[in-house]
Amino acid sequence: MIVDSASAFDVRTYLRQEMMPHFLCPGCGHGIALRALLWAVYELGLDKDKLAVVSGIGCAGRLSAYIDANTFHVTHGRPLAYATGLALARPDLHVVVITGDGDCLAIGGNHLIHACRRNLKLTCLMLNNEVYGMTGGQVSPTTSETRLTTTTPLGNSEPNFDACTLAAAAGASFVGREVTHHVPKLKQLIRAGLEHPGFAFIEVLSDCTEIFGRKNELGSSAEMVLRQKSELRPSAYRDTVDSPFRSSDLPTGILTKTERPEYGAAYRTAAAAQRARLAASTDQNKGRT
Ligand code: SF4
Repeated sequence: MIVDSASAFDVRTYLRQEMMPHFLCPGCGHGIALRALLWAVYELGLDKDKLAVVSGIGCAGRLSAYIDANTFHVTHGRPLAYATGLALARPDLHVVVITGDGDCLAIGGNHLIHACRRNLKLTCLMLNNEVYGMTGGQVSPTTSETRLTTTTPLGNSEPNFDACTLAAAAGASFVGREVTHHVPKLKQLIRAGLEHPGFAFIEVLSDCTEIFGRKNELGSSAEMVLRQKSELRPSAYRDTVDSPFRSSDLPTGILTKTERPEYGAAYRTAAAAQRARLAASTDQNKGRT
């Protein structure tokens, strides 16, 4: 029975049991991220009927199918575009996007930067495992330099995106990063993102154990998770492991949090004012006839 010892949270009550077994490889970090999201939903007491999860294509994109809520599995790179329409039309819903690094930053990169500047209330979880796992292990915009993928057999020569810096520069009012190594902290960050009254971008550093890990000889899934601890934490927390895995000393936690007008509220205010103007003008026209 999967019950968190610190609470009555039972992840099974948020999963579609009829979709089991899931397709994730053993040790894949995406399962940890999914659990953290659902734990945050549980803690906030969100009604499943008021939760909408939109996902794109890829291993991360597949996760929405397992969530017992309103879910949409949409076209590659476009979950933010679909979610934007949904959040505008249904402001009563909590809209969450689950996307991968390729889905979000390559084909979906344009949608991301405009979602950041627009500041519509949405929570975007980008699961970053540095690779296109589902389609065979191609290089992605977050693949670290020198890493091996099926399309960089000599090692990746391109600098990778720092997704959080990109999102903050594009105007995101909430930006955060956490690792799957620390589930309670990840849950707390997602919870803070869900509570944020604007666009929240959260990068989850996850592990593709089967494709990326195997290709780069990163060891077992447990060793990959421990590697997060030694290589992604601030210097004070790092141990003696010396490896070029991702950029070292990446900050985690809430990185940006600002207050800006929320786009949906501003849009509805403008629309109401327009309706009032039209109604007044119609009344005037009626008075003339
Ligand atoms: S291919 Fe990689 S990302 Fe996809 S399910 Fe397997 S381990 Fe996870």
